[in-house]
Amino acid sequence: MYRTHTCGELRIVNTGSEVTLAGWVQRLRNLGGMTFIDLRDRYGITQLVIGDQAPVDLHQTVDQLGREFVIKAKGIVLERSNKNLKIDTGEIEILVSELHILNAAQTPPFTIEDETDGGEELRAVYRYLDLRRNPLKRAIMLRHTMAHEVRNYLSSQQFLEIETPVLIKSTPEGARDFVVPSRMNQGQFYALPQSPQSFKQLLMVAGYDRYFQIVRCFRDEDLRADRQPEFTQIDCEMAFVEREEVLNTFEGLAKHLFKSVLCDYLHHPDHPQFHQPFPRLSYADAKRLYGSDKPDIRFEMKICDLTSLAKGCGFGVFDSADFVGAICAKGAADYTRKQLDDLTEWVKRPQIGAKGLVYARVVPEGVKSSVDKFYTPEALQQWAEETGAQQGDLILMLCGTERTTLEALGALRLEMGNRLGLRKKDHFAPLWVYDFPLLEWDNETQRFYAMHHPFTSPKPQDLSKFYSNKKEDLEQVCANAYDFVLNGVEIGGGSIRIHDSAVQKRMFEVLGFSDSDADYRFGFIINAFKYGAPPHGGIAFGFDRWCAVFGGSESIRDYIAFPKNNSGRDVMLDAPSRIDEVQMKELGIASTTI
Ligand code: ASP
Repeated sequence: MYRTHTCGELRIVNTGSEVTLAGWVQRLRNLGGMTFIDLRDRYGITQLVIGDQAPVDLHQTVDQLGREFVIKAKGIVLERSNKNLKIDTGEIEILVSELHILNAAQTPPFTIEDETDGGEELRAVYRYLDLRRNPLKRAIMLRHTMAHEVRNYLSSQQFLEIETPVLIKSTPEGARDFVVPSRMNQGQFYALPQSPQSFKQLLMVAGYDRYFQIVRCFRDEDLRADRQPEFTQIDCEMAFVEREEVLNTFEGLAKHLFKSVLCDYLHHPDHPQFHQPFPRLSYADAKRLYGSDKPDIRFEMKICDLTSLAKGCGFGVFDSADFVGAICAKGAADYTRKQLDDLTEWVKRPQIGAKGLVYARVVPEGVKSSVDKFYTPEALQQWAEETGAQQGDLILMLCGTERTTLEALGALRLEMGNRLGLRKKDHFAPLWVYDFPLLEWDNETQRFYAMHHPFTSPKPQDLSKFYSNKKEDLEQVCANAYDFVLNGVEIGGGSIRIHDSAVQKRMFEVLGFSDSDADYRFGFIINAFKYGAPPHGGIAFGFDRWCAVFGGSESIRDYIAFPKNNSGRDVMLDAPSRIDEVQMKELGIASTTI
């Protein structure tokens, strides 16, 4: 038997029992003839002791050990004289009577410690060693618990977990597809799903009125910190529902996860905000108040429109702008010249693109701004009133066109939130954003694209605009779509779908597909809708992202056991890689281009 217990299991009550443990050597210490070994497995660390009286062969075995050797040890559980209350097994140790080396190990290329000396690239190559470290272990375990609780909750709500295929048909809309050549049908390709969207809608037609799946999706996009070419969604769909029921059902899922996963993970008994209904904001309000469709509402600092107050007073920059907006940074009136210069440089970076930054401090003498000479003290006082700035606060203003200024203020707001420590990792602020525009005009291709996807339903009250042929009308059509946002991260998105084939046909028309084109790409779904499609809607959550936000991390990579790097490579496997000629021939792919 390799082990009777794990390395995280033994306690003071086990004192006196004979046990066998197996694991990896975390640390070895020799103190005056006695050797202490920290033995590690997934569950924890247990201290082994080899006494100075131990037989010679035992000491000889110990002499051969090194870090990360795999060993098995038998011995008696003793109460420790020197207790370590930081670890669960810290009150006991094992006095070893037998020790076996199960496998030797080379010295690992970086230390297997919470704070390691290995760089990101090196750790990615040896991902299986990195996964031995506690921070990653915690992340992977959090992910497991999340998945488990998602299944618990959705099953309790009558959802069925149904798998959908991975080799499907390319429907180029949204991101680029990954494709797989077919050997049996040469010259033809499967696509990997960007999401199981059409399958889940077909399941609704099939009568499985509550579906979910924790499912791998593939999108061939340029990567960012929170994107991976393959990622996991909690994909869900419901029939006979309106938006309200969808939001309530998944608010229930989020609350369940907050309670059953997060509180435990944070060692926090409860989070009062999770008993309240989640706030809801329309897309238009989110943009107007936060300059973003995924606002971080852990802190206030809403954007204020000061256009009418700031314009027409002789300050040319404001006078020539379409829009002047401000945020109020609480308690930041004492920002130094240097800090303000630094912020000005920050907003001028190309990513933000502002031309400059105007500020006003609310101090005991009144409101003191960088553009004092153009405004009367009363006018400046009005800025303070409008933004809700009080003594000790700092007003920051940007101007330009409305859309770009709101976006820049939104970015500045997040930056100030960071600088003022208002975006705490253990504070969670969920939010629904709804009523997104249905369509987005693309100047380059001179056509509309679906902002969500082509199956999203327009709001009933906008149907007449939806049938209009004017671009301005179509631009104003609202989608019955919603996003779930947590701490400024878009965690989920979904919509009430089109279930009427005439409306669906119109949607394809608006998107510029000819009848035959629509038929070629989406014929299966158009057809299915002729056989009694129920009203339906759903949502999909980015599972990796949700785990990362719960874990307080910016990047989803830590929450994926074997992720890809920024260029979409798996540096451990060294994939993607060439395939040999024979394989290429079999697939009917010309090798001359490679
Ligand atoms: N399939 C959509 C997506 O992946 C989500 C949904 O509408 O349910 O974004």
